[in-house]
This record gives sequence, C-alpha cells and structure tokens, in this order.
Amino acid sequence: MAWTLDHWINGAAVPPAAGEYADRTSPATGEPVCRVAEGTAPDVDAAVAAAKRAQPGWAATSAAVRGRLLIDVARRIRAAADALTDGEVAETGKLRATAAGEVEGAAQYFEFYGEVINAIGGETFDLGGGFHSFTRNEPFGVIGVITPWNLPINQAARAGAPAIAAGNAVVLKPSSLTSTSSVRIGELIKAAGIPDGVWNVVLGGGSTTGPLVVNHPDVRKVAFTGSVDVGRQLAHMAADRLIPLTLELGGKSANVVFADADLDKAAAAATNGFVSNAGQVCSACTRILVQRDVHDAFAGKLKAAAEAHRLGETVGPVISQGQYRTVRQYLDVAEAEGATPIAGGAAAADAARASGSAGFFVPPTVYTNVRNSMRIAQEEVFGPVLVVIPFDTEAEAVEIANDSPYGLVAGVWTRDISRALRVAAGIEAGQVFVNSWWSGGVMTPFGGFKQSGYGREKGVEALHHYTQTKTVTIAL
Ligand code: NAD
Repeated sequence: MAWTLDHWINGAAVPPAAGEYADRTSPATGEPVCRVAEGTAPDVDAAVAAAKRAQPGWAATSAAVRGRLLIDVARRIRAAADALTDGEVAETGKLRATAAGEVEGAAQYFEFYGEVINAIGGETFDLGGGFHSFTRNEPFGVIGVITPWNLPINQAARAGAPAIAAGNAVVLKPSSLTSTSSVRIGELIKAAGIPDGVWNVVLGGGSTTGPLVVNHPDVRKVAFTGSVDVGRQLAHMAADRLIPLTLELGGKSANVVFADADLDKAAAAATNGFVSNAGQVCSACTRILVQRDVHDAFAGKLKAAAEAHRLGETVGPVISQGQYRTVRQYLDVAEAEGATPIAGGAAAADAARASGSAGFFVPPTVYTNVRNSMRIAQEEVFGPVLVVIPFDTEAEAVEIANDSPYGLVAGVWTRDISRALRVAAGIEAGQVFVNSWWSGGVMTPFGGFKQSGYGREKGVEALHHYTQTKTVTIAL
C-alpha cells in the first residue's frame, strides 16, 4: 500500500511548504510505493531552526541520560523491526534478510553510542602548580547528515546516533529514493522521550534540497555518505563555509587471493562480497587479484558460485532504472575493452530483462581477461560485477591493489600470517580483511583512504568527529 511521507521537523510530520511531492515505485515490481515531500528553503530553514532551538537543552543533559535514551531507541527499533524492514524492502526491492540485517545494524548503532558516550572524557595537563588545565568534548550544534540509498536505515543511524549521543541535533537529508526509514527513526526517537527538534529529517532531491542543508549558516558540520562526485561538490561548499566535513565515498576494493589460500572459502566470500545487495555496497568486493598458478581454478569457483544465484530469490534488483542503465552500460564497456564474461555479462543481462520481469535485475557477472587499467577495473559500477586479474608476486599484487583512485576496503587470503600482515600494511585502504571479506561491527572504525573519503564513521573514533575540543585553563 502506497504511503505519503512528509518532513519530520520538531517532532512532527510537516508537509512541504511548496506542496510538492515525488512519486516512488518499487524497483522490484514497478508498483507505486510512496509519495515523498520535496523540500525547499522554508522546510530546511524550519528544520535547522528546530534543531538549533533544541540542541543546547539536549547537550545540557548528562551523558548518562542521553545514553539511556539512545539505548531505548535501539530497543524500539528492534520492536518495530518488521515494519521497518517492510519499508526498506518496498523502497529498495532488496531481499528481506538483507534489509532485516540493516535494521538490526541501526539498532546496534544507537545501542553502542548510548553505551560509549558515558566513557568519553577529556584530558588534564600539568602547567605547574599555579594552573588547572583540562579539555571538554563539546558538540558542534546542528549537524547536517546526508545519506545515500543503498543501506538507508543503517547509514542514517551510523551518522545520526553518534551525532546526537555527543549532544548535537541533526538535520538529516536521506536519498529521495529511500526516505522512509529516516522519518520512522524520528518517530521512535520521539517515543523514546528524546526532545523534539533533536532529530529532524528534510526530504527532497540531492541537487535541490541537499545544498540548502550544507549551505545553511546554522549547520556547523556535515557528515556525508555517497558518491565521489557529490562528495567533491560538498567539499567545495564546506571549504567556502569553513565547516568540517566527513566524507564516506565509493570504492573499487581489491581482494588478493594467494595460491596457498583456502580457495573454496575465498570464492564463497568473494561472491557474497560482490552479489550482496546487488553489488550496491561501497565496500563491495569488486576486484579479485589472484595468483596466476590458481587463476583458472579460482575463476571456475567464482563462475559456479555466481551462477548458483537466482534473480529475485538470492539477488535483488538494483535501485532504479537509472542505476540499471549505468550498470548495463558498464557491461558493454567491459566487453568492448576485451573482458570475457565467465558468468552473467551483457547478453545474460538482456536475456534476464527480456524474460518479462518488471524489476531491474542484473545477473551476477564475473569478468576475466581484465587488465587493471581498464575502466571496468578502475570505476565503481555499483552493481553485481566482479573482475578477475592475475598476478605473480606479492609486490605486484600490492601494486595492482593500490593502482586505484579509491581506498576503501581490501582483502588478503593466505595461510602465511607474515605475508598477510605485510600485504595488509602495504595496501592503501581504510580497512583490510584477512581470510574473510566482511568482518567488523559497529565498534570498528570505517572510512576511506584516497578518493574513498576522509574522516571515519563507526566506533569510538567517530564520536570524536561529532565533537570539538575546548581547552579550559584556570589560574589558581
Ligand atoms: P549520491 O552521491 O548521488 O547521493 C548521496 C546523497 O547526496 C543523497 O541523499 C543525495 O540526494 C545527496 N545529494 C546529491 N547531490 C547533492 C548535492 N549537490 N548537494 C547535497 N546533497 C546531494 O550517492 P548515491 O547514488 O545515493 O549512493 C551511492 C554512492 O554512495 C556510491 O558511490 C557508494 O560507494 C557511496 N557509498 C559510500 C559508503 C561509505 O560508507 N563509504 C556507503 C554507502 C554508499
């Protein structure tokens, strides 16, 4: 059943000032899902004003009180998990189990930051007997949070929970394709007893509503998750305003498989790493670098694992017609460059489309005969597409892994612990997994090297990005 989604401002649903809504349809079935408010300047002004009013009182509550309330939000997210999962599935078309995992992840962010905010303290300094000097971790005030469409509730919680735990108020602008869960969190936050105005959500288009948030004079910091192109635009805006910005951007992550690795385990993890969420994950495993001796055997395992997936059952659709076109064009680019599809590929994608499904499904695609200089090895596709590139030596593997504008995550598969540690140290990436593809929790810092961004989300480290240090020195 389609629903109407208004902004969430000062603890209430607020219709858009201009009266405009955009219709959203399911990427899996093509059916109507919701109509979403289009934000204009008066909406953003109202949200920022509500945040600015609420923030000082919120910051003045003790960390213990804020923490307890955040933990209650986590409990409420878990209690509402079915309905939240329904909303995510309807908007994104993703598999129910995937969406349910992201809802649980959102609960964990509120729980974790509710707990650790009590453990954050300042420092004291010895300036001699005549002084007492210490630091305070103070909130910025109003924080703008801008999130993408691929893991919507997770990303809203990942940035929003530490921001409010630290005593800030947020104005969140989710992707216009996936707005519902950010508003639903607002409702749960109100139910938990967090003051109105601490969590505000303005809805609308990226290039229309987004810059209004970033450029608002009362927004003191921005946390952005999204593409490199938009991240760069925001970096210019933030530079003009001299406000801090964290950027969680894209990736083209290399997974290095040595001949001594457990190849079955590595192939299963790599396949999950590029097929999961239809490949629409910043940390997707998109480049396999495999030692030449085992290249053919390993490629065979990837082919079998990719072909075992069933569209609509184990692989969801990509988010939109536009994203489908982008991914489909990359298959043409890869094949024109000389890559060989050993699973999926352009013809298989067209056959799947022709089979009559209304959804934007892309068959898991694995390419061999790929050189790292090819576009398909350099550019983020954001679909279920993997390239396989052979290497001979450890040094060559590290060189190829680092020959990328991105540096988000990487993997190393080997039974040789010394080599694993050398390669993990040599690869330019914000996180490296050894003998697994994805392992981590809300407590492990996450972010990019190079064009994958700067600053970190997750973990205690992220809390420090949501506070500024004040040193107080008292002459005794
Ligand atoms: P996107 O950059 O197009 O949009 C992200 C958000 O920015 C959306 O809310 C959008 O409405 C908004 N936006 C767009 N233009 C804007 C502008 N000019 N000013 C202000 N806001 C604007 O990204 P997307 O297509 O929604 O998401 C996919 C991208 O996100 C991929 O590149 C992916 O790698 C990246 N991503 C990164 C991480 C991470 O943690 N590093 C996680 C998930 C996704």
